[in-house]
Amino acid sequence: MDDYLREQFKTISSESEIIYDYSYKDGNTYITKGIADTYPCVIAHTDTVHDICEDLTVFDNTKIMFAMDMTLGTQTGIGGDDKVGIYIALEMLRSVDVIKVAFFRDEEHGCLGSAEADMNWFKDVEFVLQCDRQGYKDFVSDIYGQKLFDRSFSKAISKILTKYGKKENPQGGLTDVYQLLENGLDVCVANISCGYYRPHTDTEVIVISEVFDTRDMVLEIIDKIGGTMWKNGLYTGPYIKKKTAYESSRSFGEWNDTYEDRYNEKYKEDKSKDRWDDFYDEDREYYNQLDLETCCSVCNSEEIIYDDAQDADWCYSCDDYTNHYSNDTPNGLSIDEYEEWLTKKEKVSLSKSKLNE
Ligand SMILES: [Zn+2]
Ligand SMILES: [Zn+2]
Repeated sequence: MDDYLREQFKTISSESEIIYDYSYKDGNTYITKGIADTYPCVIAHTDTVHDICEDLTVFDNTKIMFAMDMTLGTQTGIGGDDKVGIYIALEMLRSVDVIKVAFFRDEEHGCLGSAEADMNWFKDVEFVLQCDRQGYKDFVSDIYGQKLFDRSFSKAISKILTKYGKKENPQGGLTDVYQLLENGLDVCVANISCGYYRPHTDTEVIVISEVFDTRDMVLEIIDKIGGTMWKNGLYTGPYIKKKTAYESSRSFGEWNDTYEDRYNEKYKEDKSKDRWDDFYDEDREYYNQLDLETCCSVCNSEEIIYDDAQDADWCYSCDDYTNHYSNDTPNGLSIDEYEEWLTKKEKVSLSKSKLNE
């Protein structure tokens, strides 16, 4: 992936007269485009959880992309986590005149790459966006109790989020933007769902239109708010991991007019009720529509794995098949079509042209 990024850098930088800077340090890639006092910034991670597969072949059916291990003849994770993020970062590098993009190694091992990030390189970034979350609708506003951005940032982009059908979600998981805050970065950051589903499993798929919509949204955000420094007024400094997301979301109650207001409205009478149950229900409803579950519908565990033969998810906690789907496989083909496709070995390789489309 690092070699691929170097090649992409060469191609993109040769296409324009703009001055670029490329550096590779401790396994991380940093690219600056243009010369300015400050830069919008987009980051992604270069590793995936999947084993390297000798004969990985990417298929798509115009709606969905998925990968097959052609040696074994079975589906394998496509690595949309975080190749979708890499794609979007490269697209920004292509289309924005003044921008910084960075690519970190070993996010999946606990953000080891970003923990060693060159923070001097980040001193002139205006804000940092990362696309490293499953699903489509989340614009992550909190990770482990740290507010990723403040109210003025939220207001500045809220119309764009609505336009693209995304919503602030305070339940973020560990990713590089959080690590950068831990490193002392005090500008607004966000992590965005970008159209991959079932990450970390062999049944990982990418919903193509959602990738493009997310790309367009990131571009629109940069167009609208780029050129200004967005210091995070709610930045509380490193080492706040000990606070749970639940406690700190409550303590910041006044400003989040999405989740927090709805919660207060709903539980005016009975504040003892566990708010998250309902929010999980809303998520579940959304994923049901997409026919892609991200957790067990019985016990909420995320330890599920899709079983092709059963067309259902096996839940390790329930020790049973819990999420049952329609007759379609997750990639949108019927099982017959899927097998026919396999025998034909109609390869659609993940070529650069595909990524560049
Ligand atoms: Zn991951
Ligand atoms: Zn990831």
